[in-house]
Amino acid sequence: TLTAGVIAVQGDVSEHATAIERAARAHGEDAEIHEIRHSGTVPECDALLLPGGESTTISRLLRDEGIAAEIVDHVDAGKPMLATCAGLIVASTDPQDDRVDELDLLDVTVERNAFGRQKDSFEAPLDVAGLDEPFPAVFIRAPVIDAVGEGVAVLAEWDGRPVAVKQGPVVGTSFHPELTEDSRLHDLAFFESVEA
Ligand code: GLN
Repeated sequence: TLTAGVIAVQGDVSEHATAIERAARAHGEDAEIHEIRHSGTVPECDALLLPGGESTTISRLLRDEGIAAEIVDHVDAGKPMLATCAGLIVASTDPQDDRVDELDLLDVTVERNAFGRQKDSFEAPLDVAGLDEPFPAVFIRAPVIDAVGEGVAVLAEWDGRPVAVKQGPVVGTSFHPELTEDSRLHDLAFFESVEA
C-alpha cells in the first residue's frame, strides 16, 4: 500500500486522489489517500501531492497550519512529491511574488499566471522525458518557469519553456496532470526514478 497525502488546504483534491489510485493500481498496489488540512499526517505519508489552486492562499495556510515544515522534512528524507501549477509556485525557490511564502524545494524561478495572459486555459500534447507517448497537458492560468538551477532536470518544454521539472524526489509541473484520465505523471513522480 502506498500511503499518499494530498495537501487539501485549498485547490483540487479528488482528481489527484483518483489519479494516484490509478497509478498505484498499475503497479499492483493499492493507495491509501490522506487529505491533509492540518499538521501531523504528512510524516505518515510515503508520497505527497501539492495541488494547484491559488499559490498565495495555499502557502499562507501551509505556514499557519504547521504543514510547511513537515513538507520540507518529507522531501529532505528523499520521499517523492508531485507539485502542480500553484503547487509548483509554492515549492519553488523564487515565485517572484512577495505574497507567496515559498518552500525552497525546487530551484526554479517562476512567473505566476504568465501562460494565462494569452489564453486562460489550453490543452497541449507534451513530450515528457520517460513517457513513450505525448501527455495531454491542461494549462490553467499556469506559471511560466523562467529559469532552472543546476540541480534541476527539465522533463518537458512547451513553447520553448520548461513546464515539467524534477529535482531530487520532487517533480513539478506548470500544468494539471489530474484533469485527464491519464495518470502517467503521477506514476512517474511516485513510482519511477526518471532522469531527463
Ligand atoms: N494562477 C494560480 C497562482 O498563481 C495558479 C493556477 C492554478 O493552480 N491552476 O497561484
